[in-house]
Amino acid sequence: MGERVSPRGPSELVELDDARTAVLSRVHALEPVTLPLAELRGRVVAQSVVARENIPGFVNSSMDGFAVRARDTVSGSARLRVVDSVHAGATSSLVVQPGCAVRIMTGAPLPEGADAVCMLEDTVADGDHVIIHRVVTPGDYLRGIGDDTRVGQELFVPGDVISPAGVGVLAGQGVSTLLVHPRPRVGILSTGDEVVGDGGPLGAGQIRDLNRPMVLGLVEESGCVPVDLGIAPDTREAITRAIATAVDSCDVVVTTGGVSVGDVDYVKVALTDLAPETAMSLRVAMKPGKPFAFAVVGPREVPVFGLPGNPVSTRVSFEMFVRPALRRRAGVAHVERFSLSAVLDQPLERPLDGKVHLLHVNVAWGDDGRVHVLDIARRDSHLLHAVSTANALAVVPTVARLDAGSSVRVIVLDTDSLGAPP
Ligand code: AMP
Ligand code: MG
Repeated sequence: MGERVSPRGPSELVELDDARTAVLSRVHALEPVTLPLAELRGRVVAQSVVARENIPGFVNSSMDGFAVRARDTVSGSARLRVVDSVHAGATSSLVVQPGCAVRIMTGAPLPEGADAVCMLEDTVADGDHVIIHRVVTPGDYLRGIGDDTRVGQELFVPGDVISPAGVGVLAGQGVSTLLVHPRPRVGILSTGDEVVGDGGPLGAGQIRDLNRPMVLGLVEESGCVPVDLGIAPDTREAITRAIATAVDSCDVVVTTGGVSVGDVDYVKVALTDLAPETAMSLRVAMKPGKPFAFAVVGPREVPVFGLPGNPVSTRVSFEMFVRPALRRRAGVAHVERFSLSAVLDQPLERPLDGKVHLLHVNVAWGDDGRVHVLDIARRDSHLLHAVSTANALAVVPTVARLDAGSSVRVIVLDTDSLGAPP
């Protein structure tokens, strides 16, 4: 099952990178399926795709104008007889003779005898003649066979995500079906006796379920299909049963709560019951999100993630572990988010607790052409509202203080919010 992460003792912290490597090494892409062209956008290619047709398939005009023999235009004011007209979808049966031209529209095949196109703007009509006001070079305004794609050219490799333009490229090859990885179905389970799912009145000590609606959205945003598994009470049996049932129909399962050291934290116990070989319960050297459990459960080898219950911890742990794993499960070659080095506009202090701190921040372009950290959300793992409008996560290394003006790596959660640079 790949390398195991073995902290030196039960209370030992595991480095974030080591924990991520251990988890990702146990997550594999789903078996490919054949899907029709109309369903390929956003899917991940599972086979190499090689061009079987040249595009363009014939020499054609890139402009509205006149198809000419370039050597007829050397005077710079040639007067040619217009013998035919051809538009896209039609062909001219004429061979362009010396002193003649054929009116041609964008996309129409170049008539035989012609070797260039002169665009309309460089011509003057003169009855059934046209005056060409420039010296045309052979090949002008022509699109050659295979300019875009050539037979035998590799168009996609496994792991490529099919963009809308990519769907166009496949359509251009006459592809009607393709082998791709399916969208992972991801089950999401909240745990906790105190957690209530509907909008009704709350009893003493009860709280509303923030995590499940949030994780449903995070899963969907990651390109997967969220499956709502509801809420399990804090019993070993209920949590074990919920996970055991989920792995029959889901490709990944994410639970929240019950992975810490409380008396009723049964998720890690359930994972050990279900998958003693692969279950790991870690204290990750990150803040928030220290407690974390993982196992590969059942004959379908379904990765199950036990995220902490505090909503901000859930959010950050999802980002660090689940999102890259979902992308790997989906077959994507590049699993990481876009990140960059940003300038701190204010000093940042943090305790030296041996953990990487992941802070929700707002970043924006500065006049200096760099991205700046404008503000840092209030830090505590239960303060979801405080972080809900952040557009990035700052990765703060284990140093006591970063001065204003120093750089920090930020993982951009919402690239669109950055807009254009100044
Ligand atoms: P736990 O890890 O289960 O001890 O939960 C840690 C904290 O997160 C506790 O204060 C829980 O009440 C809270 N919590 C757990 N699950 C949820 C949830 N689904 N929505 C909101 N808060 C939760
Ligand atoms: Mg709990």
